Amino acid sequence: MTSQHNDQKVLISTLGCKVNQYESAAFQSDFEAAGCSMCGRGEEADIIVVNTCAVTTKAGAQSRRTIRSLLRRHPQARLVITGCYAQLAGQELIEISDGPICIVGNGNKDKLVAATLHPSPCELTMLTGKIRHKTDICDLTVQRFGTRTRAYLRVQDGCDNFCTYCIVPYTRGPSRSLASSKVLDQARIFRDQSHREIVVTGIHVGQYGRDLEGKPTIAQLLGKLCRATPAIRYRLSSIEPLEVSDELLTVMSQEGNFMPHFHIPLQSGDDQILKRMNRHYDRTQFLAVTRRCLEALPDAALGIDVLTGFPGESEKQFRNTVELLEQCGCSYLHVFPYSRRPGTPAADFRDQIPGPVKDERVAILRNLSEQQKQAFYQRHLGTIRPVLVERRHKPGGPLKGFTDNYIPISFTGDDTLINCVVPVRLERLCDQEVVGTHDNRQETGHAR
Ligand code: SF4
Repeated sequence: MTSQHNDQKVLISTLGCKVNQYESAAFQSDFEAAGCSMCGRGEEADIIVVNTCAVTTKAGAQSRRTIRSLLRRHPQARLVITGCYAQLAGQELIEISDGPICIVGNGNKDKLVAATLHPSPCELTMLTGKIRHKTDICDLTVQRFGTRTRAYLRVQDGCDNFCTYCIVPYTRGPSRSLASSKVLDQARIFRDQSHREIVVTGIHVGQYGRDLEGKPTIAQLLGKLCRATPAIRYRLSSIEPLEVSDELLTVMSQEGNFMPHFHIPLQSGDDQILKRMNRHYDRTQFLAVTRRCLEALPDAALGIDVLTGFPGESEKQFRNTVELLEQCGCSYLHVFPYSRRPGTPAADFRDQIPGPVKDERVAILRNLSEQQKQAFYQRHLGTIRPVLVERRHKPGGPLKGFTDNYIPISFTGDDTLINCVVPVRLERLCDQEVVGTHDNRQETGHAR
């Protein structure tokens, strides 16, 4: 986008996942390239963009609330709504305001800034289209990911799996990948903007490359990224269990700047529930995957997503999940209560689980997550690990950052260490993090 004279102020509000955050950062880059400036909620905005989420009914309601509250505060602003909730409920959103409104579906996010800044924008624009027919990924480039040390890089969009509880394939369409040359270009932009860590992200990253010529795999892409930008630390946002290939484990073990950190969705540890979720693995396979991961990288963080309260989940089936999680050596859990999402098959399944039962199961799993996290941190006390220093939480407070294997650390040091990777000795547990000391003798310039 070429730079134009345009002094409009833009407010972007983002809900939902890392992919939405990447896309909002791209809108910001394009608005700024056109001469606009960004503003906060307290300032007068000319343009408001809301990048919505629909992953649960609650997320959809939160998206509507955000739009209404921004409309009340900025009645004169031009309103642009995009994201999964806009894709799903565009017609309903048109009626949310009496003023001009532009609805941009997920398949047209690359047209959002141009449509918004068009010299004579239509009173009412609807750019949603048939997302299931989309064959290419929106080309969106980010110049800088806010003031953060860590940036997200979206390499893939959409999903073909149709898990029975998930709305995402209907809102984001089929799996589409970004050509590796464009992924590398984006990584170099982040490197030149002094980002030190990149989280490679997508909706279903294990499907990366299946739609591209030569069918490159996600492991090959990650290998290329690590070699092209060795000063950057890489993490992979999330990968389905059966997509953890030997090739991926080899890349993770061999590339010094690929962090030892896995994030794998389990969802349920019961084979019958997994079948009803339309997840194509069983508990034995899942256990074998986690074992392979920890054999390849014994110090790795292993984060696992788990969903409880799926329709029909009996006490015994829930116990199967807990038991599996106790066995698989994970270091933390992301626990989600099942949320009935109209438009998905599971919303019509019988035996929906009552709220209080779900709450109880969520509490048990969160408690387990806490225990496993503490045990993981404890196991690394006394060791020295490379920490990417991100910031101080308050002036004069300690420096904060994460080890390569995703342990949150705080330690004393001066500001010159911010945005650097430094060796830190892990001393003791304190609340949700580990307190460490900077180990000057071990100074390295390496990413890991
Ligand atoms: S793999 Fe399943 S849960 Fe993940 S986005 Fe696809 S349908 Fe949704």
